[in-house]
Amino acid sequence: MSEPKRLFFALELPSAVQKQIVQWRATHFPEDAGRPVAADNLHLTLAFLGEVSAEKQRALAALAGRLRQPGFTLTLDDAGQWLRSRGLLQLASMLRAQAARSGCYQSPQPFHPHITLWRDARQAVPIPAPGFRWTFPVNEFVLYESSFSRGRTRYTALERYPFDKES
Ligand code: ATP
Ligand code: MG
Repeated sequence: MSEPKRLFFALELPSAVQKQIVQWRATHFPEDAGRPVAADNLHLTLAFLGEVSAEKQRALAALAGRLRQPGFTLTLDDAGQWLRSRGLLQLASMLRAQAARSGCYQSPQPFHPHITLWRDARQAVPIPAPGFRWTFPVNEFVLYESSFSRGRTRYTALERYPFDKES
């Protein structure tokens, strides 16, 4: 039997937005604020699944493939606050409900969509004023495997789920 995999559903960010975020982070935080998340790894998690067997992965992937949702536009315009988008909240809530029904532990905390910029923060740093506004269309969500090797966290896209065309 194959090893369980560490899986999560997430939105990929366009690489131009990843670059802008990294630039913004470099100019607004002290260099030693924590462990910066690599540009390629910046993403928005919709549902964390944990360690999942191949069988459960197939079931969750099939359920996710049945979701029907129009695409939506995401605007990142706030730091330290939460992004509000109906399409996003609806998608995350369906994926989280499916994960919970399939036995993947889901935090009872409400979903707070966010993009993690630092891990292992050394201290609380003041949250900079949001002087940005990045808007981009979201056309799909992705099932990722997270693995850790040679001192690096890597995300591998296992499956992509395109949305219905925006009406
Ligand atoms: P690191 O290797 O430093 O932990 P990471 O946190 O990005 O890097 P994972 O821990 O595999 O890698 O997490 C993958 C995604 O799932 C991230 O968006 C992370 O924030 C989220 N995540 C991880 N653990 C949980 C959890 N227990 N509950 C909710 N989301 C989680
Ligand atoms: Mg982690």
